[in-house]
Amino acid sequence: MKKQLSKIALGVALLTAVTGFSQGDKIQPCNTYAAMEYYWKTTPGAKEKFDAAQADLQEKYLQAEKAKASGTNKTAAVQYTVPVVFHVLHKGGPENITDAQCISALNQMNSDYGRMNADTNTIFAPFKSLYINSDIKFMLAHKDPSGNCTSGIEHIYNLKTDWDQTGANSASYYSGICWDPTKYLNIIIVKQIIPTGTVTGGGTIVGYTHLPGQYAAGDLRDAIVYNNGFLSGTNARSLSHEAGHWFSLAHTFGNTNNPGVVCGSSAGGDGVSDTPDTKGNFSTCPASSTNTNYICTSPNPGNPNNYYQNVENIMDYSSCPKNFTSGQTTKMRTALASPTAGRSNIISAGNHIATDVDGLGNCTPIANFLPFLNSNISYSVCSGGSLVMKDFSYNAVITGYAWAADNGAVIAASTASTTSISFPNQGITTITLTVSNAQGSNVKVIQVMVLNGTAVITGNYMESFETPNVTPPNWSVGNPDAAVTWAQNTLSARNGVGSFYIDGSTDQFGQVDYLYMPVMDVVNNPNNIFTFSYAYARKTSAYMDKLVLQGSLDCGANWKDVVNLNAASMAANSGGVDPNPFIPGASQWVDVDVTQYPYWSDYMNTPSASFRFVFTEDPLNGNGNNIFLDAVNFTSPNGLNELTKIYKLNIFPNPSNGEVTIKFNLNDAATVGVNVVDVLGRDVLPATSANYGGGDQSIAINKNSTLSKGIYFVNLNINGTKLSKKLVIN
Ligand SMILES: [Zn+2]
Repeated sequence: MKKQLSKIALGVALLTAVTGFSQGDKIQPCNTYAAMEYYWKTTPGAKEKFDAAQADLQEKYLQAEKAKASGTNKTAAVQYTVPVVFHVLHKGGPENITDAQCISALNQMNSDYGRMNADTNTIFAPFKSLYINSDIKFMLAHKDPSGNCTSGIEHIYNLKTDWDQTGANSASYYSGICWDPTKYLNIIIVKQIIPTGTVTGGGTIVGYTHLPGQYAAGDLRDAIVYNNGFLSGTNARSLSHEAGHWFSLAHTFGNTNNPGVVCGSSAGGDGVSDTPDTKGNFSTCPASSTNTNYICTSPNPGNPNNYYQNVENIMDYSSCPKNFTSGQTTKMRTALASPTAGRSNIISAGNHIATDVDGLGNCTPIANFLPFLNSNISYSVCSGGSLVMKDFSYNAVITGYAWAADNGAVIAASTASTTSISFPNQGITTITLTVSNAQGSNVKVIQVMVLNGTAVITGNYMESFETPNVTPPNWSVGNPDAAVTWAQNTLSARNGVGSFYIDGSTDQFGQVDYLYMPVMDVVNNPNNIFTFSYAYARKTSAYMDKLVLQGSLDCGANWKDVVNLNAASMAANSGGVDPNPFIPGASQWVDVDVTQYPYWSDYMNTPSASFRFVFTEDPLNGNGNNIFLDAVNFTSPNGLNELTKIYKLNIFPNPSNGEVTIKFNLNDAATVGVNVVDVLGRDVLPATSANYGGGDQSIAINKNSTLSKGIYFVNLNINGTKLSKKLVIN
């Protein structure tokens, strides 16, 4: 029907939502409008741009319909070939679906668009004749954007296999996955799409995409995101539905994700001449033309077909999608011939050569594998333990596997696709998989950290990174990308002259660098104090770098965040925003007391705790600024012990931002010395000593607020007995 979305239509959709239109566990073919509406709400001007692009396409479509009616466009349609690439996102689990499942879905799409389905004969009579071969063909691309041979089906290890409505419009989700959408139809296969936000209908969401004009040509978000559970058989008609959107089709019930609109109301508009009024059918398929659910309540005398809904239209939400109409086909072909969002380039002869859609795709395989400990991916293992290496190579049929490893690692099956490898020796161990076929070979290398589970830190410990160009004994650097990483330097230091740092100016976006500490005995150490110091500046306020201290109780098989510092808070406390390479001054170092964080308690009762510092460069912006680390300290100047209880030592307020009272109790008169030191043991207030009588006593310190923000220790010496308590100034 010809009507377009109006304010009334939106009102109806929202009213439907608030009056409790229940969608429960129903299958929601798509979340396209919810995703687009979310973008419009959060991006000023986006809706206007989209509407203008749609109006332009609609005008072109109406001209094409007119040409068709007047008989000037009766020649056979030129085939429009759309190069397709599937990006299967996986974490090494069953969500890493097979190539065959993608190809099966592609075949279903071609059947739907080519009118080649077995069930075409069962289409309700008024609409069977409207269903024509669209001459739109989907073909796997066989060259990637760099001109390399591709099968057209990528299998990408990606922790984000669950997408959501917010992610539909978040460039970071698509970055590193999608190829130029003016050359390829990108189909991102995800494990699930989680309904979030306020404009969603709930239920199981099968996919979403963006109509042309939502984004500028070439924007990586101009892709289809699709649930991997709906690829087989006619389930893949939901993929044809999403492609319909990508070719500019609206739902037959209008521009909304909420079917059940009023028949013949303006909510039903899809701008297509031969799709009848429809209310939209959610997960239902009325059995026959006599079923009143099949009949719209506002018959249009001018068009007898308008009396019936086209329940079986692929752009409805019914459970029996079977056809497009001739008008929808014209509209899709109009969008494909239009430069809007670069669609016309997709079908150009030049692009077919660039993407090699007619090629055979006989490629060299791309090697990939992951190390597993039990069912979890683990890049760490205790010495003497073993990991299972699972093959996730793709891009071709593989005829040869060859595993190799250094550092004395023992490979169980060096030519199998999957093998166990045992690690007798601690230290970084490099594992290599070479996959090959007649076309060539490809290599994947990873590093596994083999940790000695025996604690190295068993008493007071301070690492200040003083030895030039050396990683301290029992420390290790993990550098998966083999690019810039943690290194010793003398540019700045919290104590001494050396520290560790990452040169942010050469750190690429998204890179992760690890600095592993020696294994720590926490339970047998009375000094439950764990501090470190950092300094950091943000290159611009857009940088979302982060520094995390992670802990593990099983030689790194599982890591949990203990201290998670984001760019904004780190910069605010240290070097702020600085476009130049950051060299911290003395006042820009920040002390962190790990024991103040809730997850520290997980490690207090273990004789073997592993810790590592993880710095992650902003996922979108590389070449940021420097992060420094120093004074990793597991100690306290005088020790914390039972004496503080005996003397009822209390310090308050704590944390404080000004004067602090030290309160204690003496059985008898005594000489009491007081000094206050920082985490490096340096005096920060003048030491005092005086005689006190028996009973409760108190001493005020920091009266003039001379202590700057940080962690300190208040040390008391009572007739030679030393006790200590931590003080935080904030
Ligand atoms: Zn849809």
